[in-house]
Amino acid sequence: MAELEAVIGLEVHAQLLTRSKMFCGCRAEYLGLPPNSNTCPTCLGLPGALPVINRRAVEMTIRTALALGCRIPEFSKFDRKNYFYPDLPKGYQISQYDLPLSLGGHLEFEVDGERRSCGITRVHLEEDAGTLHHAGEIHTSKFSLVDLNRAGVPLMEIVGEPDLRSPREAPQYLRALRQLLLHLGVNDGNMEQGSLRCDANISLRPRGQREFGVKVEVKNMNSFRSLQAALEFEVRRQSAVIESGGRVHQETRGWSEVEQATVSQRSKEEAQDYRYFPEPDLPPLRVSRELVEELRASLPEPPLRLKDRLRDQHGLGEEQAALLTERPQDAEYFQAMVASGAPPRAAANWQLGPLQALCKEAKLDIELSPVPAAELAALVRMVEAGEVSGTSGREVLAEAFAVGRLPVDLIRERGLVQVSDTEQMEAWVDLAIQQLPKAAADYQSGNDRALGPLVGAVRKASGGAANPDLASRLLRERLGRGGG
Ligand code: ADP
Ligand code: ZN
Ligand code: MG
Repeated sequence: MAELEAVIGLEVHAQLLTRSKMFCGCRAEYLGLPPNSNTCPTCLGLPGALPVINRRAVEMTIRTALALGCRIPEFSKFDRKNYFYPDLPKGYQISQYDLPLSLGGHLEFEVDGERRSCGITRVHLEEDAGTLHHAGEIHTSKFSLVDLNRAGVPLMEIVGEPDLRSPREAPQYLRALRQLLLHLGVNDGNMEQGSLRCDANISLRPRGQREFGVKVEVKNMNSFRSLQAALEFEVRRQSAVIESGGRVHQETRGWSEVEQATVSQRSKEEAQDYRYFPEPDLPPLRVSRELVEELRASLPEPPLRLKDRLRDQHGLGEEQAALLTERPQDAEYFQAMVASGAPPRAAANWQLGPLQALCKEAKLDIELSPVPAAELAALVRMVEAGEVSGTSGREVLAEAFAVGRLPVDLIRERGLVQVSDTEQMEAWVDLAIQQLPKAAADYQSGNDRALGPLVGAVRKASGGAANPDLASRLLRERLGRGGG
C-alpha cells in the first residue's frame, strides 16, 4: 500500500482587542467580571434590540487580511448562522457566509529554518458566544451556569487552505499567525484563556494522489503542543483505520489532554444545517478603496522580515532574533536599547536573560519594566566597556528593577565602577607579583591555576575596583605568557 500523506488546514478564531463588543456598547473585556454583569439587551438577545457594527473591529479585520495578502471586496455583508446552544441567547450567531470581508491570501512561516507558505481562504468577522460553567463533570452534572459576559465579543476567523502536510507544520503556522496578530495589535495571543483558538482539519491520502481524503475536524487544543499532539494522534488513528481496510468517517472530534487522544463528538450524520441567511438588522458593508489604502499604510513591518533584519543588521543568532520578534514590545525594547548605544548582541543577551527573568518573576510586561531600555542600555555599555563586572551589573539591575532607580546611579553609589586605566592597573600588577613571587614563578612555568591568586591580589590592592579581565590579561603579558 502506498505511503500515506497528511493534509491539514486550520481554522483560527481570534478575539479582537476592541474596546466594545461587536454589535453593542458593552466592554469587550470579559474576564474576571461578575457573571452576566457585562451585558445589555443586544448581547443578551432580547427581542427588539438592534445590533450596530463596530467600526474598529471591521478595520482590525481588514488590516489582518491585508497583512495576509488578501483582497478586500468592495461589498460584504453579515449573515445569521442558526443553531441552538445555551451560550447563544439569540439562537443564531451573526457571522459572514458568502460575502466575507476578505478572500485569498497566504501566510509565510518557518519550519526548522525553512520558509513555507500556506494559503489563506478568507478572513471574516463574527461574534463570540457566552461561556458555560459546568458544575463538576460535564456529563454527570445536573445543571450548567450561563455567563453571557463574552457573548458578542468581536471574533475574527482566519480560515487556512489545506496546504499543510505534516502535524509539525501546524504549530509553526499558528505561531506565525499569532505573531502577526500580536504585531498588528489586534489580539492578545492567549491560547490558554481562549482569546486565540484553533480548530484543525486533517485527512490522509496515498502520497501522489491528487484528491483529498475524508477530513476530520479536531477541536479543543489550547496550546501549540496539544495542536501537534492531536494531529499526530489523528495520523496514527486514521492510518490504522485505512491500513486495516476501513474508511475514515467525517466527524468532529475533541482533543482530550488527559487521555492524550481525540474523542468523537459528532458525526456527519448529525452535522447541522445552519440555515444561513442575510442578517436583516444590519446594512451591507461597503468598504471604500480609500479606507483600504489607509489601513494598508498602517501595517507594521512583517514579523519575519523584522526578524531577518534584526538578525542581519545586528549580528544576532537566529534563535535570539526570533525570540526578540515574537512580540512587538520585545522588538521595540531591543531596538530602543540599540538606539541608546548598547552593543546589540550584549543588549539581546541582557534583555532575554536577566531582564526577562525579572519581568517574568514580577509578572510585568516588558513595556512596564521599571528599568526602561535607555537605562539598561547605559548599564550594558558600562559592562561591555569593562567599567562594571557582569556580576555587579546583574545585581544592580535586579535592585534597580525592584526599587525603580537608575542602575547607573546605584553603580556610582556602591563604588562598583571598575578601574580599567592601564597605568594604574600596571602598578597593582607589579605589587601583586612582588607579594606572590611563588605564584608568579609557578604561572611562568606553566601552572595556569597560579593565575587566580595573582588576580585576587590585584583586586585586593585596588580595593576591589580592578577590572579582573584586564588584570589577568596584564598579568599574562607581564609573566611572558601573553599569547596563551
Ligand atoms: P467545511 O465545509 O467543513 O467547513 P471547508 O472546505 O470550508 O470545510 O474547510 C474548512 C477547513 O478544513 C479549512 O481550514 C480547510 O483548509 C480544511 N480542509 C478542507 N478540506 C480538507 C481535507 N480534505 N483535509 C484536511 N483539511 C481540509
Ligand atoms: Zn451588550
Ligand atoms: Mg467551511
